[in-house]
Amino acid sequence: MNSSIRAHFPILHQNVNGKPLVYFDNAATSQKPLAVINAIKDYYEQYNSNIHRGAHHLAQLATEKYEDARKTVAQHLNASEREINFVRGTTEAVNLVASTYGRQNVKAGDEIIVSEMEHHSNIVPWQMLCEDKGATLRVIPITDSGEIIFEEYLKLLSEKTKIVSIAYISNALGTIHPVKEVIREAHKVGAVVFIDGAQALPHKKVDVKDLDCDFLGFSGHKVFAGTGIGILYGKEKLLEAMPPYMGGGEMIKSVSFAGTTYNDLPYKFEAGTPHIEGGISLGVALNYINEIGLDKIAAYEDELLQYGTHKFSEVEGLRIVGTAKEKASVISFLVNDIHPYDLGVLLNQQGIAIRTGHHCCQPLMDRLKIEGTCRASFAFYNTKEEIDVTVNALKRAIKVLS
Ligand code: PMP
Repeated sequence: MNSSIRAHFPILHQNVNGKPLVYFDNAATSQKPLAVINAIKDYYEQYNSNIHRGAHHLAQLATEKYEDARKTVAQHLNASEREINFVRGTTEAVNLVASTYGRQNVKAGDEIIVSEMEHHSNIVPWQMLCEDKGATLRVIPITDSGEIIFEEYLKLLSEKTKIVSIAYISNALGTIHPVKEVIREAHKVGAVVFIDGAQALPHKKVDVKDLDCDFLGFSGHKVFAGTGIGILYGKEKLLEAMPPYMGGGEMIKSVSFAGTTYNDLPYKFEAGTPHIEGGISLGVALNYINEIGLDKIAAYEDELLQYGTHKFSEVEGLRIVGTAKEKASVISFLVNDIHPYDLGVLLNQQGIAIRTGHHCCQPLMDRLKIEGTCRASFAFYNTKEEIDVTVNALKRAIKVLS
């Protein structure tokens, strides 16, 4: 699919340190197609205006485009527009649910379950809530290959469980968790489930009705839109019953010193002037990937994963960390006792961008008894040739560092 697709991404066509850029840091943030870049430019050149309250032409246009983006997101997730809340990203989505649903429903003695391989943003807000309420955070253990141990999860579930929060796909290892089964079992004990969709949305079709998740958060910047925008999906009846998150303009129906009434969904959770061009860019990005086709994207990325896994494994001394049966296009690895950062620096000298470190998953690194990994993560605009270039550069770097 590649040469025509790559032409949509201007940033890919540059040299770094005298070599053609190989961008393998897509799990941290993805690059933006011209459609998204132009949408942001058009917003500022043609109709920049505050939304929802203006009678004038520009305000109407901006409102229309922003609300169109909400419709696109709703359709993409198979949700209703009332269930789609614009937030800053996955981190804010988790914090919003912890501070509203959590504050309202979790009490002393209750339990919240996460997995051992969550991103810090899907751990710390729940820890804060537990501290505040006298509740306990329980942790689903994982295997050495990076899969949750389902029987152990079942043992953790009880009538004390109020919330289960788990990533659909691990950013550090690429594991695709069996979230549908996780959700089904949590519901049997009356718990609600938050799905961290940050790594899932760029790679696969996510249908919230089919999953039956109660909440789902994701970040625009990982799904080819701008930064600082994301989505919290919540089931309407849960969102209706939750207290607001932040107070301010937009989230109210009326304000007086005698008391304030809150706005209807989804505005109840959208205080203040939002990230207007970010929201618009998210709608454009989702339309863009839908035009290519998520099935096609998933199949091609799987091909890159298989090819990359094979090629990387051939490098002497290289060990892939995270070998789950179901994986997205992420290869985490270590080479002998070389520090990941040193490899990252040498690859950068060859124009290759990978990520090194704990990937915001320190508890996972503790479990695996490592400090961190090198991580190459692929998007649909990457190629097998780039994998070959990287493998050759790795071999050279290893020689220098050994
Ligand atoms: N969860 C996962 C699985 C992630 O990969 C990330 C980003 N690395 C986050 C949460 C946090 O996303 P953001 O920083 O965009 O809020």
